Amino acid sequence: LDQVDALSVKSFPLCMRQLHKALRDNHHLRHGGRMQYGLFLKGIGLTLEQALEFWKKEFIRGKVDADKFDKGYAYSIRHSYGKEGKRTDYTPYSCMKIIMSNPPSQGDYHGCPFRHSDPELLKQKLQSYKIPPSGITQILELVKGMHYQLACQKYFELTHDVDDIGFSLNHPNQYFTESQRLLN
Ligand code: SF4
Repeated sequence: LDQVDALSVKSFPLCMRQLHKALRDNHHLRHGGRMQYGLFLKGIGLTLEQALEFWKKEFIRGKVDADKFDKGYAYSIRHSYGKEGKRTDYTPYSCMKIIMSNPPSQGDYHGCPFRHSDPELLKQKLQSYKIPPSGITQILELVKGMHYQLACQKYFELTHDVDDIGFSLNHPNQYFTESQRLLN
């Protein structure tokens, strides 16, 4: 978990950083968040065993006890790894899917913050992440024009100190891979 904490700050796109923080703060995520974040983690290389341990560790710090976790939540994690039910090996969601489907309601943390956050809250969040004011203005302009993925790309450039990432961003896992490539 500590390792994921550090990675979430350095290399996660905003959508996944938000989900990770919500999980750590609340020791819980609702279904939409578990799916979006769980599949992303699978995509960055978490094995089924690691995923079960990861979710369990955090959930049992909240209102869910180990028994309830094993009975209720473990199944759906195994399911997303293709080990239950129809045995479909689910793939992580693309930006398009996150932006276009299943918008978050109150109490949800999934979705794309560039698409689904109130612009004022997004601005505050970017300020707290130390994005310079000129960068925030550029991001908010892109959001206003409904260019959510370009806004995310700008956020990547600003947080990795590159002028132009040289690819078009369309997947949270691509964001992660490119970030790790630049940082390592
Ligand atoms: Fe996540 Fe994609 Fe939105 Fe970026 S554009 S925050 S990677 S969904």
